[in-house]
Amino acid sequence: MKVENNKKVSVEYTAMDEQGNVFDTNVGKEPLKIIVGAQNVVPGFEENLIGMEENEEKEFDVPPEKGYGPYMEELVTEVEKSRIPNADQLVKGTFVQLQSKDGYPVIAYVKDVTDSKVVFDLNHPFAGKNLHFKVKILKVEEPTKEELLHGHVHDNHNHEE
Ligand code: ZN
Repeated sequence: MKVENNKKVSVEYTAMDEQGNVFDTNVGKEPLKIIVGAQNVVPGFEENLIGMEENEEKEFDVPPEKGYGPYMEELVTEVEKSRIPNADQLVKGTFVQLQSKDGYPVIAYVKDVTDSKVVFDLNHPFAGKNLHFKVKILKVEEPTKEELLHGHVHDNHNHEE
């Protein structure tokens, strides 16, 4: 069976930055399972899987516009230390979880810490970057009706929706 939209696909992948540094891989771990076309992954990733067969391997690039989007300067914000309860614990170059105005968790990169301010970068860590992927298709299956309806694989979770 070939990979096409609405198929359930198990994938082994290695993700690299432009310099070839591996930043994520599931080789030797649980396969990534997605419903193709349901946007479980960035568009440039699932597009490249279409037409592949089980056991087939491939390498491809994903530009920012088909990956995590462009880097946006407006998502870099300076906050006065006096407004941050745990400002002294923030370390430049690390990621922290903040809360949006609506109460949702947001991951922010601590871009800089000065005497009076902290600079947070709310861009996705891979925004504006060209990514390089190495993939192997492990399995192509028909999803269950429920999986197709929900747009995600149910192997590792059960829920009522
Ligand atoms: Zn579901």
